[in-house]
Amino acid sequence: SQDRVFNFAAGPATLPENVLLKAQTELYNWRGSGMSVMEMSHRGKDFRSIIEKAEADLRALLNISEDYAVLFLQGGATTQFASVPLNLCQPDDTVDYLVTGSWGDKAFKEAKKYCKPKVVWNGKSENYVRVPSFDGLELSPNAKYLHICANETIYGVEFKDYPLPGNPNGVLVADMSSNFCSKPVDVSKFGLIYAGAQKNVGPSGVCIVIVRKDLIGNAQEITPVMLDYKIHADNNSLYNTPPCFGIYMCGLVFEDLLEQGGLKEVEKKNEKKAGILYNAIDESKGFYRCPVEKSVRSLMNVPFTLEKSELEAVFLKEAEKEKMVQLKGHRSVGGMRASIYNAMPLAGVEKLVSFMKDFQAKHA
Ligand code: PMP
Repeated sequence: SQDRVFNFAAGPATLPENVLLKAQTELYNWRGSGMSVMEMSHRGKDFRSIIEKAEADLRALLNISEDYAVLFLQGGATTQFASVPLNLCQPDDTVDYLVTGSWGDKAFKEAKKYCKPKVVWNGKSENYVRVPSFDGLELSPNAKYLHICANETIYGVEFKDYPLPGNPNGVLVADMSSNFCSKPVDVSKFGLIYAGAQKNVGPSGVCIVIVRKDLIGNAQEITPVMLDYKIHADNNSLYNTPPCFGIYMCGLVFEDLLEQGGLKEVEKKNEKKAGILYNAIDESKGFYRCPVEKSVRSLMNVPFTLEKSELEAVFLKEAEKEKMVQLKGHRSVGGMRASIYNAMPLAGVEKLVSFMKDFQAKHA
């Protein structure tokens, strides 16, 4: 609508307008309950219906089988950097990390406190522009898991297919924070998927974990209660007070994604949006540049630089005047980054592309 901007932030990020409006109408008095979701007991039947529907809709979206538990947790994806090793291995166990950006690197560093992680590949020396070929990887034959970050939010590098762990009894673990529910994913390829909600599916404060049930129940002895998947699985994410309002918002987003026709349809829209933006960059004769290898460019986070880097501040300022905000790249890499999650309308990307063309015409 008129008074909203196109928000290209990496997270917290734009949410679907219809979801916000629905939450607004339900905010003061949720479906005749006489109170808002923020005020409800998490153990009452109203909230239980909310969390159960959110889980059921997510299971439908990603086709998650009963072999997996779905947990709604707190502490962001960052907490999972510790929870994953604490729950999936013992202190002397080897685990593998394939590092395609700074989030994967952070996950690896945290794991060092709880087990023996090995970096099997690190793209840092090339500024994280690609995913390696899986054939040449020297994976540990005894690793309990292989960890990847499915979409590196800062560098815009996204796995398009997935490696197998080196250990046939090991599992693949993925941080899907920034491409969660952006396309269909075969969950059965993974032992565990985790995602902070605040990019594609809701507000910050909720972290979703999808974990194969047979992996639950072997946490290290030092594992805090709040990080133990068994505690949360046994209690249907209601061991303690969960982030109720955030879970409610995620539920509204899941409902909306189902109404759009599910993740196959959502993926088509995301491909179209990303396609026109990458095309505009590639066809700019070097005025704009995206350093990421074409085959692994993210559908969600599009980083680009200006050939004349002195124009970057002007670009940002003029974009903001046109109601396109949060286009500044992450402080660690500079340049620009357009995050175009599910909820970014095609009109937002079209407006950005047309702005970019005008800007180039003025400044080339
Ligand atoms: N992993 C990825 C891929 C991310 O993009 C982020 C946040 N930008 C995180 C982990 C950390 O998430 P949180 O802030 O929820 O802890």
